[in-house]
Amino acid sequence: MEPLKHVPCLCGRDDYRVLYDRPYALTSDHLGDFLATTDRFENYGRIVRCRRCALVYTNPRLEDSLIFRGYADSRDENYVEEASNRSINAHISVGALRRFRKGGRLLEVGSSLGYFLNAARVDYEVTGVEASRWAAEEARRKFGVPVKTGSLQEQRFEDGGFDIVCQIDVIEHVTDPVALLNECRRILKPGGLLYVVTPDIDSLSAMLLRGKWWGLRPAHLYYFSRRTLTDLLEKIGLEIVLARSFGRIFSLGYWASRLKSYPALVHRPIERVISLLDVHEKLMYINTRDSMELVAKKRG
Ligand SMILES: [Zn+2]
Repeated sequence: MEPLKHVPCLCGRDDYRVLYDRPYALTSDHLGDFLATTDRFENYGRIVRCRRCALVYTNPRLEDSLIFRGYADSRDENYVEEASNRSINAHISVGALRRFRKGGRLLEVGSSLGYFLNAARVDYEVTGVEASRWAAEEARRKFGVPVKTGSLQEQRFEDGGFDIVCQIDVIEHVTDPVALLNECRRILKPGGLLYVVTPDIDSLSAMLLRGKWWGLRPAHLYYFSRRTLTDLLEKIGLEIVLARSFGRIFSLGYWASRLKSYPALVHRPIERVISLLDVHEKLMYINTRDSMELVAKKRG
């Protein structure tokens, strides 16, 4: 049994209400739970909501060192299967950024296999940082994009060196979102942009599906809403310039497989239709409106 530690809220208060409680299934291979596409959705731990600031977070959780090691060692071959879909999602994100700034130096924190960097390189001079040694190497090999291995803080980038810093599906995984955001602000130029995509715990589908919502995962430590994320970004000195729901493109087969964690009443009929029409590979844009996309500007 791995040691779990109790954590206070990011606001400093230690007073919460338990929302969902599905104890971690901690086995010798538990680090596999940190993989982005883990199928083990059900044992996501105990999720609480702070009574002061309404932030939702996992408490207790694994020791930080185990989490860091989990990401450093992670390999996720399944992620590659959805390559074309990930590329399309990446182009949607680049499209959102281009509305605010065309050109300049762009850093992606948690660049995974490099799909976003590859999409962004057309418009920007790109750099990636990735904790997983395997993913960083894959991105360098496959796309030839510059990716540094390790945490953002370890890179010791100079003050104000980047025009844009991106975090796509990253902030919900990190042990200290405040430290990460502060570091992002430090390395942004005055007027530079921070781009964040993360699941929205106050979305309609999260409220309807409750403990069965896809966003609840063992690898997620913080569950932001538009309000709690906006509060945090403003507190560290950033100005929100865009906040909206975010849709995804995936193959129908992938969507059907994700629906498996929902009641049979929901996923069986959909699977039947997909199977009958033989459209597993067909791409489809679905805005489930349960992720959100924020752009925040560094004052200056
Ligand atoms: Zn709080």
